[in-house]
Amino acid sequence: MDPGIVCFQHCGPKVFCISLPEYCPVCTADLSVANFSLMPFRVPYPFIRASQHPCAVIIKPTVGDFLHDYYNSMDLHIGVTTSTGTIVEFDRHGLRRHMNDQWDQCLLVDQAAMPWREHWDKTLLQVSKQKCWLSKNYNEEQNNCYSFVLTFLENLNYGNLSVAASSKTVFCENYIVPRTTSAGKYISLYRKLQDGRYCIHKSAGK
Ligand SMILES: [Zn+2]
Repeated sequence: MDPGIVCFQHCGPKVFCISLPEYCPVCTADLSVANFSLMPFRVPYPFIRASQHPCAVIIKPTVGDFLHDYYNSMDLHIGVTTSTGTIVEFDRHGLRRHMNDQWDQCLLVDQAAMPWREHWDKTLLQVSKQKCWLSKNYNEEQNNCYSFVLTFLENLNYGNLSVAASSKTVFCENYIVPRTTSAGKYISLYRKLQDGRYCIHKSAGK
């Protein structure tokens, strides 16, 4: 899943690429014998596989995946995982529990600490029983994936996360926007690096 974006510095600017080139794209020096001013390192991949993160709040594009299809936070779908990594999500099909691979490239919004696991599952089960999560009650504007996750988080009483969950605006500002902003940088870099291209970042002032 990780495309393996590499960053290095040879003769000045930072160079980003998918695989290390033979020659420096800035000064054409042979990199097999070169001295790097910053040794090549893998740029951290921001996405996670939901099933490997128990008791988590997760987001992904409603359609497709982040690297190829994401444009803005309006298109995001939100869900949670149970203590065993089962994904629970609410959409036009109603409330579903599954472990399918549609959540293999998502962002971790937050994750509850170990001692909370039992309380997390219990609260999730209680909230899941509410009739408003039947498919016939789904409404794209008024009763959607956010309604479910925020209702669950409010009931959970988990510190600041639950406080923020009382308002969709506050929750998005504090928990969604920071994650999508940092992932957005990775996504735009990835898209620029397609087809063996490089990205050369001159540092400010040079
Ligand atoms: Zn160079």
